[in-house]
Amino acid sequence: MLDLGEVAGYALVGTTNMKGRMMKTEKYCPSCKEIVPIDQFYRNWNMADGLAWTCKACALRATKKWKLKNADKVREYGRRWRAKNRAKHLAEHKKLETV
Ligand SMILES: [Zn+2]
Repeated sequence: MLDLGEVAGYALVGTTNMKGRMMKTEKYCPSCKEIVPIDQFYRNWNMADGLAWTCKACALRATKKWKLKNADKVREYGRRWRAKNRAKHLAEHKKLETV
């Protein structure tokens, strides 16, 4: 059943409604187990409703936790990224020098 609150909310939020579906104004976050306003969710167009699975606070918390748990991996990733980009940078320099 559709309640009037949802319809009113739709009028306020409904900017993109390509498929003619009702836009939600709130979404249940399974991580903090609360109903959270959808502006507290990141966009994720892979999801059916175009919103991330969890709210921003939970997503940030999860990222932080993951980074703490995987500090080595994060450091390694950063190191590799820099190395890769430095190589790219140097390659571009070389290209410029030879022109
Ligand atoms: Zn949450």
